[in-house]
Amino acid sequence: MTSDDVNDCLFCKIVAGDLPADVVDTSDRVVAFRDIDPKAPVHVLVVPKEHHGDVSVLAAADPQLLAEVVEVADRVAHDLADGQYRFIFNSGPRAGQSVFHVHGHVIAGTQLGWTPA
Ligand code: AMP
Repeated sequence: MTSDDVNDCLFCKIVAGDLPADVVDTSDRVVAFRDIDPKAPVHVLVVPKEHHGDVSVLAAADPQLLAEVVEVADRVAHDLADGQYRFIFNSGPRAGQSVFHVHGHVIAGTQLGWTPA
């Protein structure tokens, strides 16, 4: 990521409050907001406030922050659903990643199928 990419990052703008989002949970270093195009009754994106490109970059740079992302995801799933959920990180365009600021998708609130490809 170049600094220009970070300056143009959609999720950095949401974290900064420069773009609106339906925030459902937050901690010192993590924010969770509803996906604008939900694929399930509960579809929440869990995002570290600090910019990292994808989950492997985050894991290498700050494993404690990744653990905090998981902690917030689990709390969201318990608060908004029954605590059973899928937590998805798309990594790379061919895997469906379209926003290059790491985010996990909490998918919950219904019986989930399994057709990822
Ligand atoms: P991914 O395709 O894994 O990178 O996920 C990006 C997700 O961000 C998609 O599910 C989009 O629907 C979602 N998204 C894009 N723009 C916004 C926004 N402004 N607020 C909330 N979710 C968004």
